[in-house]
Amino acid sequence: MLIMAVNAGSSSLKWQIYDLPAQKQVAQGVIERLGTEAALFKVKFGDEQAINKQEPITSHEQAVILILTRLKELKVVDHLAEIRAVGHRVVSGGEQFTESTKITPKVIQQIDGLSELAPLHNHIEAYYMRVFAKLLPNAQQVAVFDTSFYSTLEPVNYLYPIDKRYYDDYQVRKYGAHGTSHRHVMQQAANMLHKKVQDVNLITLHLGSGASITAIANGQAIDTSMGFTPLAGVMMGTRSGDVDPSIIPYIMKKERITDVATMIQILNQKSGLLGVSGVSNDKRDVDEAAEQGNQRAKLAQKMFVNRIVKYVGSYLALLPKQADALVFTAGIGENDPQLRADVCVALSHLGVELDATKNNVRGKEMFISTADSPIKVLLIPTNEELMIAKDTYRLLD
Ligand code: AMP
Repeated sequence: MLIMAVNAGSSSLKWQIYDLPAQKQVAQGVIERLGTEAALFKVKFGDEQAINKQEPITSHEQAVILILTRLKELKVVDHLAEIRAVGHRVVSGGEQFTESTKITPKVIQQIDGLSELAPLHNHIEAYYMRVFAKLLPNAQQVAVFDTSFYSTLEPVNYLYPIDKRYYDDYQVRKYGAHGTSHRHVMQQAANMLHKKVQDVNLITLHLGSGASITAIANGQAIDTSMGFTPLAGVMMGTRSGDVDPSIIPYIMKKERITDVATMIQILNQKSGLLGVSGVSNDKRDVDEAAEQGNQRAKLAQKMFVNRIVKYVGSYLALLPKQADALVFTAGIGENDPQLRADVCVALSHLGVELDATKNNVRGKEMFISTADSPIKVLLIPTNEELMIAKDTYRLLD
């Protein structure tokens, strides 16, 4: 049966259609620059067929109508009723949603109500749920939360060492992010290691333009690098990751910034690889500049590795026993052998032995450690959409 997985942002809408339980991808597409006169509509389907068209798409509802119309025109489906369910990625489920959930009007309201925790996402995601409910009234809709994988964290790991009242009164705590990706690679890793999911101990490294690292003990997340928001943790493309909060008022004073939101925007959008290198937020551009001798780009590369190594080292210590494996995923994790080598070499004294030949690979699910490495190293391409589709299928009546 056909299941659509939807990943909505404020200016983009990504979707995939899977045939389940076969897990076969039937079509996928994205609308970029949504809300403009020059939106980009892309679809891939069938045997390498593709459409790439620039056209005005000025509203979110129009975007969904267009996707559904094209699905019929392109004969991806004969009738829209063939799409039995729609799974939505939701960035924040707060403390309310500890697992994927069937969508009802009340659930949509609750998701919208959590917008303070994910201002750029939850509101828009709730809006799309209403649009899909209207346009595909017979399809079951399911919400799959980025945060639910972290509902297993203990207070000792999710609380900040500040007045407990801030948690009690305002739910200030670590929520984490990228949970769907970490959960997907955990399940794949368990298969590859011939273990049950509830028996695996892993450190999963989702390294893309956003980056997060998760410690998994016995198939459950016990800690993760992102925090109250996705700004915390390791250094990222444009996000700083962890910094001493005291630099915020200090920089504001020096730069005469009067608005905290502007300062947070600097940490979210002008920091990380971009801020340190001064070149780009894209790792490939930073690598190219470093190759040509750009010292700031070289420093950005080193700091990126350094922050990852520190998190992995602390999580190896936090796990109750030796990790079975480190898992690399997402844009950089899947495609950057040098970064993987730099991280693993720094951790070699802790039992991580990378096989340099096997490591010279991109985007393929495989072991890249030596045969007798005490801690294995796995490369597993992420697939959040498949995970969303699988959860949606599981929840169908
Ligand atoms: P994502 O957010 O998962 O799409 O990842 C985006 C990041 O992956 C960017 O920093 C890209 O530069 C990086 N990336 C994608 N492909 C490659 C590649 N072939 N080599 C190095 N980095 C890559």
